[in-house]
Order: sequence, then C-alpha cells, then structure tokens
Amino acid sequence: MDTELDFYSRPQRLTPECFQAWTAMKLAAHESGVTIFLISAFRSIAYQHQLIAKKLAAGQSIDTILQVNAPPGFSEHHTGRAVDIGTFNCDALVEEFDKTEAFQWLNNNAEGYGFSLSYPRDNCFGIAYEPWHWCFKKC
Ligand SMILES: [Zn+2]
Repeated sequence: MDTELDFYSRPQRLTPECFQAWTAMKLAAHESGVTIFLISAFRSIAYQHQLIAKKLAAGQSIDTILQVNAPPGFSEHHTGRAVDIGTFNCDALVEEFDKTEAFQWLNNNAEGYGFSLSYPRDNCFGIAYEPWHWCFKKC
C-alpha cells in the first residue's frame, strides 16, 4: 500500500503490516522527541537494476556496487518490508547515522515494533554496515 511521501516527496510502497508498524514506530519516536523519516522503502527489481546500471555508468566497479546494493531480485526492498530511515542533521544513508539520537532510539525501541537492523557491522552477508536499513520481520 502507499505510504506517506518520503523525504524527497516520492510515494513509497510497503506491505500493510509493515506500514502500520512503521507509522506506530514513527509516532512513538516523535513523542520521545526523535525525528525519523522514510528515505526509501519498496524498490522494484527494475529500479534496483537502474540504480546499479547508473553506478556502473559512473565508473564504479560491480564489486564496489554490490557491497552496498543487493543485486536485482535480492534486495530486501523488493519485499515491501524494508525501510531506509533518516533523521535531521544527518546525511541520507551514511554510516554516521549510527551516531544520531534517532539510531539510539531505534536500537532501544525498534524491536518492539518488529523492526530489526538487517546489516549490522560485520554481518554474515558480506554487505556493508547499513545502520539506516531496518526490516520488518514480525509475522
Ligand atoms: Zn535499504
């Protein structure tokens, strides 16, 4: 289903359960004075493909790209259950997100809403540390 518009005013899509959980979590964060917002949610396989093609065209090697972007068909964003989260005073999708109040809050509270960090530091998937990427897993 469609979510609120993201930071860049694009509509995003999530599964209804995930969207509900995200909304509840966002409100709870706001109540404790922490701002979190959607940077991106669902991505189609075609979009993921474009993203990678664009980086290849810009001269990045496929190895470098696949450290940060899952190959088309393998991204958790295809499931409609993953969200990239941002906050104020922090660039989008940077490791420094883990120094923010928002990240602290998520660390302490996100689990209660069914969200967990997909790619912690030194994760077993060989994917770069992504403190902003949280996946909804409660069934
Ligand atoms: Zn992500």
